[in-house]
Amino acid sequence: MKTQPTASHFIDGQYVEDTSGEEIPVIYPATGEVIATVYSATPAIVEQALAAAHAAEKEWAAMTGTERGRILRRAAQIMRERNHDLSVLETYDTGKPYQETSVVDATSGADSLEYFGGLAAAITGEHIQLGEDFVYTRREPLGLCVGIGAWNYPTQIACWKGAPALACGNTMVFKPSETTPLCALKVAEILHEAGAPAGVYNVIQGYGPVGASLITDSRVDKVSLTGSVPTGKKVYAAAAEGIRHVTMELGGKSPLVIFDDADIENAVSGAILGNFYSSGQVCSNGTRVFVQKGIKEAFLTRLAERLQGVKLGDPQDPEVNFGPMVSEKQLGIVEGYIAKGIAEGARLVCGGKRPDMAGFFLEPTVFADVTDDMTIAREEIFGPVMSVLDFDTEEEALARANDTEFGLSAGVFTRDLSRAHRMAAGFEAGTCYINTYNDAPVEAPFGGSKQSGVGRENSKAAIEHYSQIKGVYVRTGDLEAPF
Ligand code: NDP
Repeated sequence: MKTQPTASHFIDGQYVEDTSGEEIPVIYPATGEVIATVYSATPAIVEQALAAAHAAEKEWAAMTGTERGRILRRAAQIMRERNHDLSVLETYDTGKPYQETSVVDATSGADSLEYFGGLAAAITGEHIQLGEDFVYTRREPLGLCVGIGAWNYPTQIACWKGAPALACGNTMVFKPSETTPLCALKVAEILHEAGAPAGVYNVIQGYGPVGASLITDSRVDKVSLTGSVPTGKKVYAAAAEGIRHVTMELGGKSPLVIFDDADIENAVSGAILGNFYSSGQVCSNGTRVFVQKGIKEAFLTRLAERLQGVKLGDPQDPEVNFGPMVSEKQLGIVEGYIAKGIAEGARLVCGGKRPDMAGFFLEPTVFADVTDDMTIAREEIFGPVMSVLDFDTEEEALARANDTEFGLSAGVFTRDLSRAHRMAAGFEAGTCYINTYNDAPVEAPFGGSKQSGVGRENSKAAIEHYSQIKGVYVRTGDLEAPF
């Protein structure tokens, strides 16, 4: 497959190249080989993208929701037709196994385009009667939105930001992570093939400073970031300088609480999905697995047995179910955390090593006897490292689950319905799960509380974050004034 894109950037409806920008090698994580080269956006490219998106605003916003929605739904259709090729590319970009990418990435991107394409025509204001007078509200686009993505779900993030933004009548300049620059270009290409006017959705490449230069431009009305908490703080502060709208989808250290009465097979499945899918590189992962003392040993035994089913290897092989870390850098960070876990006294139950193969692979790793104060229980690792902690009572589990500055997700496994809902109500997290983990359908809101973020992606809630309400007061009679 050809992994070298036509050009580095997609601006104003076409591919644009400028090789004077800093070279960004695209590395296939499964082999460490360079599979493409793109160039970071120069100030001239940043200007070209912002100018194109700004110029496209009026025409796009003036179209009816039905017209905009039709284009988004057509793009969804094209994405589904090309699912195989897009999944292969996603696997080259990220190293995630094709077994995952073929059912998650382009498909969830298409779901998002389809869902917001369907909603577009129903984005309306309301009428408020005030005696004989009335107010009507107009739901208007924000204008030019900047999207900045992380490297774990490059297609999905480009769509999760682009689809609601465009449905509401905004235009977008999207900057993917420099680690995974390939997939967002395809999203732009497909949107334009589906009929989006030139300039409505643009993609430019670059490191952090390119993202930073987008945020403070006076033409930009909104910034939506998916990234880490430290980056979120910088981006939020930069956006505040111009009182810009923000959506912040940031990191987490989410709890997964498993009670004695849980179905153990399902609980083990939840812990596997919440720690090892995408080699653990998922923001909402339930990496603090609190297991009630009565089933702790049974849980660990069954988990170890199930981990025998892990198949590492060439991620393009549909039989492989566990890929490498996205980069050598990320692999090093995760190994550092594993060393800290051992040094601080956690019990390494399995994994912890690089297997003897090329690429950035790391075995799925489980620590038991982890305590709340250990580094591996406090900091986001963003790799395949599960920490198992013990607990006695529900009150204790909830208090310890919430004892973190993060608040992205939380999950509970129990057969006791009342307890499940009590826990869901008590969790300080934006996205909660009962007897499951990490499902993220476009129909449901997704996002974090506390330091894990601001705003929500997906669902009808996203419309609130990509539009604004204007109230129009209409007087039907004469107007009195004091003099
Ligand atoms: P980073 O925070 O390092 O980077 C995110 C994006 O921001 C990248 O495109 C990055 O560019 C860019 N960036 C970095 N510095 C700046 C700046 N000062 N101004 C503007 N843009 C900047 O995150 P990672 O890419 O390492 O992704 C992992 C993180 O993302 C984890 O913390 C994870 O939890 C979080 N995440 C959150 C999700 C959610 O929905 N809540 C989903 C997925 C991931 P560059 O890469 O070139 O530095």
